[in-house]
Amino acid sequence: MTASDWSPDSWRSKPIKQAPSYPDEALVKKSVEELSRLPPVVHPKEIVALKQHLRDCAKGEAFLLQGGDCAELFSYCEQSAIESKIKLLLQMSLVLIWGADKKVVRIGRMAGQYAKPRSSPTEIVDGKETPSFRGDILNGFSVDEREIDPQRLVKAYHYSSATLNYIRAALSSGIADLHRPLDWGLGHVRDPELKRKYSEAVLSLTDMLRFLRTIGADRSEKLDTVDLFTSHEGLLLEYEQALTRLLETPPPPGSSANLNGQSPATMKEYYNTSAHFLWIGDRTRQIDGAHVEFFRGIANPVGVKVGPTTPVDDLLALLRTLNPDREPGKVTLITRYGAGKVRSLLPAHIRAVEDSEYRQCVVWQCDPMHGNTLSTGSGIKTRKFRDIFEELQETLRIHKEQGSYLGGVHLELTGDAVTECLGGSENLAEDDLSTNYTSFCDPRLNEKQALELAFLIADHYRN
Ligand code: PEP
Ligand code: MN
Repeated sequence: MTASDWSPDSWRSKPIKQAPSYPDEALVKKSVEELSRLPPVVHPKEIVALKQHLRDCAKGEAFLLQGGDCAELFSYCEQSAIESKIKLLLQMSLVLIWGADKKVVRIGRMAGQYAKPRSSPTEIVDGKETPSFRGDILNGFSVDEREIDPQRLVKAYHYSSATLNYIRAALSSGIADLHRPLDWGLGHVRDPELKRKYSEAVLSLTDMLRFLRTIGADRSEKLDTVDLFTSHEGLLLEYEQALTRLLETPPPPGSSANLNGQSPATMKEYYNTSAHFLWIGDRTRQIDGAHVEFFRGIANPVGVKVGPTTPVDDLLALLRTLNPDREPGKVTLITRYGAGKVRSLLPAHIRAVEDSEYRQCVVWQCDPMHGNTLSTGSGIKTRKFRDIFEELQETLRIHKEQGSYLGGVHLELTGDAVTECLGGSENLAEDDLSTNYTSFCDPRLNEKQALELAFLIADHYRN
């Protein structure tokens, strides 16, 4: 239920971080008016379905796999880039289903992940102070496009819709069709022990799929298509507000009309129709700030990044503000401390939540990427696969010790063969980073590294 003191623009009276200084307010107004007229990108029925899935993740009955680019560019709206990401997420989720023996819920950081928070509004490029790249929704990466252009807000809507349109088309046409053999390509895995483990997993997985085919169980709808929800950081509140609409809340899946054929009384809620799931970033989660104010009024499931700078007391204050009705799965806490810090910080955060009225109410999700970013001697932003894996493994252990459930992972990944993170089975070294480093923001796991991480999580569950 929306609080009576909330409205889609009540965030405007609160202090805001990371807000852009637009060069021309009249142009912003024009863009916002156009956005407000355009149809929703996603439907409340889908948002409610995702909330049901996340409830299962909170209860320990499902696992959430969320992944995609750090900064999605408009130019990633292209058939092969979209397909390779869908296929990678599907393949990873198969490994996770097999490993954890649970339903896997998939959310892409896709179809709208265009806005980036920055630590500084300017940066030095070729010796000159230049406005930072803030994501395609505001300015361009190339130096001569760094001026903020409010018309990009509308462009973001169109790229987001075109991307989601193709995701829907590809899924409904069988891109995730398991009747087709999958390419598991383990040729690059040099470590014999790992190779044996992964090959065993693939064998057992392909056996399972073959069995399902034999008994005809693969013809059920579930195996032909697969749900993939969309998400992005809800950073640019002008954009998010324009796509937030007061809409009828659909009945939860599985519920039916009553005896005289009528649906139960309808209720209207504010849905942010720009994506199914939105999260508040580490830099904008101030309790009294504009982002938390905006997020508390929308009916979507939402995430909050939690890190070394999150005071323990803030966690409960955030939950009470964002989820006063204590709906299980409404809030996902996305923890990102860094491999060296997770042991000293996560237990207190878990206890604060699990010893309160929010016990078993949140989805605990591990983002092993954002606490593990480093710069090489020559200034290239990278991450070590080992740090990423270590934070994830330590997080799994800590939840086990604390009696809580790690309900998901949040990864920066791409289906392309990039060389942005160090290590993994290909053993990428610093010298290899320049081979195919294409990220305009944070370094992503490539297809092999991402799949390897899925195997390692599966291995944790099976042992
Ligand atoms: C991100 O998810 O790309 C990001 C900026 O993360 P965080 O807010 O946790 O730093
Ligand atoms: Mn990032």
